[in-house]
Order: sequence, then structure tokens, then C-alpha cells
Amino acid sequence: MFRVGNGYDVHRLVEGRKLIIGGVEIPFDKGLSGHSDADVLIHAIIDALLGACGLGDIGTMFPDNDPSYKDISSLVLLKRTAEAVEDANYIISNIDSIVVAQKPKLLPFVEAMKDNISSVLNIDTDKINIKATTTEGLGFVGTGEGIAAYAVVSVYSGETQGGLL
Ligand code: MG
Repeated sequence: MFRVGNGYDVHRLVEGRKLIIGGVEIPFDKGLSGHSDADVLIHAIIDALLGACGLGDIGTMFPDNDPSYKDISSLVLLKRTAEAVEDANYIISNIDSIVVAQKPKLLPFVEAMKDNISSVLNIDTDKINIKATTTEGLGFVGTGEGIAAYAVVSVYSGETQGGLL
């Protein structure tokens, strides 16, 4: 069975935090605030994976009032999500995503992000697409108040491996 899921996340940009996107530390004068490392891209991908497999959402699986998730690398959360996907007998077909940020330029870091996600999910980098865009100065992204990310994933159930897909 073929299924899709989508994910969306936003975090506020603040001073005194590292900017971590796709598991990559990006040089910038601000970082994203949140309970974990606030990796907005990984959070969107986690929600998309959970959605595709009918496993709820990131806030239910990793509650932000749980002290064990304080400042945790979101790649660890992604790894646990991958285990839940596997337990539910789904295989990831592909991931497409968009990071929406006015600054900084993210393109130089996209390959490193893909490498991180690929190794955590144990899928080829050619199954992962990451796009970066601005909002032409409009809205909370345009003013630099925050960064948003969207993700869509497709999965199929293990039983159909070798079938139509
Ligand atoms: Mg988040």
C-alpha cells in the first residue's frame, strides 16, 4: 500500500542559540528557539513520516514538556521515528522538503543535510530532496522572526515491495 504524509513546522529565530537545520550547524548570528535543538526541517520530516504511517504527530511522540528531550539533537528523534516507521512495516520511498528562510543562504549546506538524513534513515540521498526559498521579505519569515519548513514523504508497506512500486 502506497501512502503519503505531510509535515509543517516553524521556529522562532533568537539570539544565543545555534542554528541547526537538517542536523547541520549553520553559521549565523541567531538560532532557532525550542525545547529540542529546534531543527525545523527535521521536525517537518518527522511529522510527514508519522502522518504517512498513521502514527500521529511529533508533539504526541516526543512531548515538549519531557525533560529528556531538552536540547536533544532532532536527528535522534528522527532515528526513533524511523524505528517506528519500520515497526509499522513501512518503507520510505522518497522525501521532498522546503526550508523557508529569508537568511542565511542554505544552499551551501543542503548536501550535508541530505547526508545526515540519509544516514539516519538508512536510505539513499537520491530519495531525499531539500529545497530552500525565501518569502521575498514578506511575513514572519521575511522579517527574520522565524524559519519554516514543509515536507512531504511517500512510503509503502513492506508487503508490496517488488509489487507495483
Ligand atoms: Mg518543531
